[in-house]
Amino acid sequence: MAENTKYIFVTGGVLSSLGKGLASAAIGMLLESRGLSVTIQKLDPYINVDPGTMNPFQHGEVFVTDDGAETDLDLGHYERFTNAKLGKNNNFTTGKIYDQVINKERKGEYLGGTVQVIPHITDEIKKSITLVSNDTDVVIVEIGGTIGDIESLPFLEAIRQFKADAGSSNVIYIHLTLVPYIKTACEVKTKPTQHSVKELRSIGIQPDILLCRTESYLSQDIKKKIALFCNVDTDAVFTAKDVDCIYDVPLVYNKEGLGDKILKKLNIWARAPRLDDWREMVDRLRNPRENVSIAIVGKYVDLTESYKSLNEALTHGGISNDTKVNLQFVDSTTLNRENVAEVLSKSDGVLVPGGFGSRGIEGKVLAAQYARENKVPFFGICLGMQMAVIEVARNLAGMEDANSEEFDPYTPYPVIYLMKEWVDEQTGQVEKRDESSDKGGTMRLGAYPCHLEADTFAMNAYKTEDISERHRHRFEFNNEYKERLVKAGLTVSGSSPDHDLVEIVELKDHPWYLGCQFHPEFKSKPMTPHPLFRDFIKASLKNRK
Ligand code: GLN
Repeated sequence: MAENTKYIFVTGGVLSSLGKGLASAAIGMLLESRGLSVTIQKLDPYINVDPGTMNPFQHGEVFVTDDGAETDLDLGHYERFTNAKLGKNNNFTTGKIYDQVINKERKGEYLGGTVQVIPHITDEIKKSITLVSNDTDVVIVEIGGTIGDIESLPFLEAIRQFKADAGSSNVIYIHLTLVPYIKTACEVKTKPTQHSVKELRSIGIQPDILLCRTESYLSQDIKKKIALFCNVDTDAVFTAKDVDCIYDVPLVYNKEGLGDKILKKLNIWARAPRLDDWREMVDRLRNPRENVSIAIVGKYVDLTESYKSLNEALTHGGISNDTKVNLQFVDSTTLNRENVAEVLSKSDGVLVPGGFGSRGIEGKVLAAQYARENKVPFFGICLGMQMAVIEVARNLAGMEDANSEEFDPYTPYPVIYLMKEWVDEQTGQVEKRDESSDKGGTMRLGAYPCHLEADTFAMNAYKTEDISERHRHRFEFNNEYKERLVKAGLTVSGSSPDHDLVEIVELKDHPWYLGCQFHPEFKSKPMTPHPLFRDFIKASLKNRK
């Protein structure tokens, strides 16, 4: 355990979806604004080893870190709000903890003993927390789930014990709860919060600070009442007021004095917060000069949670162009030759995001064709890039029925295929996979280097030859067809340094047409919008109808 590290544990009560992830990210941002170094970790009570195998309806987006971990989407918030470098140790699930304990048991590490939740599981949880504490002033740990869930009990027990291990002046507990406004009674109700804190205290955790989600600011009287029933200081009861823009959350917290209170509770001395640049960013976001409409042609169009980072990256692209980005979600299964022009003509740019499975594929190919033929700015991400390659193969290179092996294993032209063997540049090892490989962890995952060619949209955006971007896919561009596709008009503007893997394709004689095999949205932040999103929005703005 790092000696001077302080720990903040964030729990949630009453119901889910109160925004614990955002709250943790905003707290991290506020601490960084005072010159402190932070990292944020998420502990998830579900039994999957990681969220990689869950579908977006279950879990929302799977966020990928540089080191290739498939993690909870809250890590996306943490990275967008702070400078923390996150990796596989920043997300632990019950499954991952048990997996480690059971592996140790099989190796005989607990020889002679009975392996139990307390102390073995709780010790493993505490160990996982200390893994991220190196050289960091403050570690923020968010506990997934809601107080009262059976599944989260071992995590709560572990963080309860953690205070004794780390020293009481080094640990605080922040509880996010709901204070609903009941219209018929014209008043806010504190009972759900009282119950939630009672539950927390019954397992030995006394919260230090309460963040109360409400529609409007809590009166001093209400704060006093909550403080009395929950055994906290009145000035430790904060209004976590609903806001229209997530990037306003740290500013609202700051106004209420949350940063000061945290520092006082943890006995940290730090400078006053520097928030001017952030404030200016929120101002720009709130007062756009222009408007642009982007069609997102995907599968999970009803579930914006599944495209969380993508939506944020588009917003960031808007910030750098002083533009509000309006999203038109188009269900690709509803697109056909007859309606594609009508549906997509409402938007100024077309984006085909990442995805898995064959449903809606042909609609995505049609969208790529529409964008190419009508000179509409096009951005294909991962699966979207593969769709663009298939479209060019079929319609420009004369490869009828070209497809990805993912959707048609018997296609005469597998322009996108499953690489059976390759040398992993991250590990230097030869990796193998086939159709029967494990579904968990068999993808090209995490950061890989990419070399850009001059005079391309990619180079114009990044303004540097060598970049690194994050991947999450199984299938790749098939080099066997590279020459034919290039002859037909496709430009390969980015490849792995050994030129084995095609990473970015483009079309010339087009205002902006780019497909990338990686997921640039994972690295976009509001203060540093991603160059590809910036340029895509800029091109779409020029194409405004
Ligand atoms: N399904 C495709 C593949 O596995 C694309 C994945 C993605 O878009 N993330 O290669």
